[in-house]
Amino acid sequence: MKNLIAGNWKMNPSSKKEAEELFDNLKKKIKIKPDAQTEVVICPPFVFLSLSKGLPLGAQNLFYEDKGAFTGEISSAMLKDLGVEYVIIGHSERRKYFSETDEVINKKIQKALDLGLKVIFCIGETAEEKSAGKKEEVLQRQIQDGLKDILDIDNVSVAYEPVWAIGTGENCSVQETKESIEFIKKFVKKDTRILYGGSVKSENSGAYIKEAGSNGLLVGGASLDAEEFTKIVQSAE
Ligand code: PEP
Repeated sequence: MKNLIAGNWKMNPSSKKEAEELFDNLKKKIKIKPDAQTEVVICPPFVFLSLSKGLPLGAQNLFYEDKGAFTGEISSAMLKDLGVEYVIIGHSERRKYFSETDEVINKKIQKALDLGLKVIFCIGETAEEKSAGKKEEVLQRQIQDGLKDILDIDNVSVAYEPVWAIGTGENCSVQETKESIEFIKKFVKKDTRILYGGSVKSENSGAYIKEAGSNGLLVGGASLDAEEFTKIVQSAE
């Protein structure tokens, strides 16, 4: 199984020019060989997807309907048509700011898979859930409800992203990540890829793969710096 390193640009950068520069820099630095052990995917905002310069693409969201009167939404078919390969679903920022429930996430995953997109399915507990001793309960519910009635999860990677570690600089310890990954494995297939995400930088990235046993990383803030993101990709090899 190849490791997957996904860069989630979130709602950045602010202009087309900056997005083009970032794609250019990534393209120059990241050399993807066909036999590489690491797969890389860049997930920019929708409006920058077509600027990718041939780098493998992921989207940050989609809507579960095929077409029609859903103002502001983007379908799986539209993404496929643009050459998008992956889609992030269930990110904690979507759960928090856009009230996405496990049920909505489940519909989005189903639709993405139906249309041949690969899914990066995010799960993770909040600080409150963790301190209330509910981490495992939350992870189990998110996985089981998010993947409900989905028969084929071959194209799903699960990203364990403790909410308290996202964008805070407070990354999860290797030991705790390892334990969470072991727990998550009980609910997916033996060969399902499990990623870690949460304040990943080049100083800590290698340990999540080599010591915590993850099969890759979902990188937010650090993916906006081409040099740093390249170091993270290299640390996975
Ligand atoms: C993310 O956006 O999924 C993420 C993990 O962000 P950051 O790396 O900035 O914590």
